[in-house]
Amino acid sequence: MLGISQPRLFSDTSSCNASIRWTMIKKAFKYRLYPTRPQQRDLEHTLELCRQLYNAALQERRDAHRKVGKTVGFYEQKRWLPEIRAGLPEYRGVHSQVLQNVIERVDKAFQGFFRRVKEKRKAGYPRFKGRGRYDSFTFPQAEKTGVKLQKDGKRVFIHGIGSVKVKLHRPLEGRIKTATVKREGDHWYIVFTCEVEPKPLPPTDRAVGIDLGTNPHFLITSDGETVEAPRYFQKAEERLAKAQRELSRKKKGSYRHKQAKKQVAKLHRKIANQRRDFHHKTARKLVERYGVIVHEDLNILGLARSRTAKGVLDAGWAQFLQILAYKAAEAGRQVIGVDPRYTSQDCPVCGYREKRPLWVREYTCPQCGAHLHRDIAAAQNILARARAEPAGMGTAWAVP
Ligand SMILES: [Zn+2]
Repeated sequence: MLGISQPRLFSDTSSCNASIRWTMIKKAFKYRLYPTRPQQRDLEHTLELCRQLYNAALQERRDAHRKVGKTVGFYEQKRWLPEIRAGLPEYRGVHSQVLQNVIERVDKAFQGFFRRVKEKRKAGYPRFKGRGRYDSFTFPQAEKTGVKLQKDGKRVFIHGIGSVKVKLHRPLEGRIKTATVKREGDHWYIVFTCEVEPKPLPPTDRAVGIDLGTNPHFLITSDGETVEAPRYFQKAEERLAKAQRELSRKKKGSYRHKQAKKQVAKLHRKIANQRRDFHHKTARKLVERYGVIVHEDLNILGLARSRTAKGVLDAGWAQFLQILAYKAAEAGRQVIGVDPRYTSQDCPVCGYREKRPLWVREYTCPQCGAHLHRDIAAAQNILARARAEPAGMGTAWAVP
């Protein structure tokens, strides 16, 4: 969702930093909110009003689509908002831009649906949001709607809620564009997206290919470096699996079931935070060291997954690549996605292609005799694809 500009100038590595045009980049900052009890009630109430509006807008579009085969669009629905605010006084307390954003979310849900239909993927018709299933509201133009930090960043003013205590665990940068208030379990957060100036790192010609793995091997580079998920993260995942087993043994509707469910949700959130943290650290290390980072294109990988050894797509990869892309844009580095097909079968030295069972980690190429490690070879092939050279030309890439 963040505006990522994709630089592409790989053919000329010597000037790879010089030729990138600097545009502002968007960066997200998420902070914990500490609302008072009455503020919590107001936040809950705002979410509930937004949820009801979302469902009403969805209902209308469904009806129009099914009964008349017509589509009611975003602008048409947006025009009724003043009427809603006039007729239903409780909506007057919610900023009109927040309500517009709700309508926009319905629109986005439909756009996604139509796109999936067009691509002949599993479509999934936009669904109604049940109670407790609507967790955030957004001020699309935070400055205009009066959302701002107060008292040296100790509080934030939110329209319709008031001045809420906030903890800025890292400084906010740039100009605030949007603000989203979010509920996660019992906690409240505010996420600012800001426009910041890119901070280019000193240029480097070093390029790397990365092969994405599955837990605990997160990725392996064409230089032969393995990045593993941290131990505490693996431990947390084990605890989650245990909590899920316990949940499945409790009787539905019972107090213990409810408690176990809470516990599972809490662990889920903890793991999601740890994972994001790990993704940030890993991406930062790569961006600091390499001028060009080449990875598998997940869209193609998704389509071709039956043909790759990767099996089911790891949900974490998409987030990692998104973080990597915007960190790279900020630092003036290039990130390139390439077609991943056959990258784990081809010999990076001579190009000989052979399918091998998954358990074969190391092998000797029957054609050229190079001794190869499966994942490093894949990462080297990924790098070579971005170079648009036949694999192995002019470069000694075999693992000694
Ligand atoms: Zn070979």
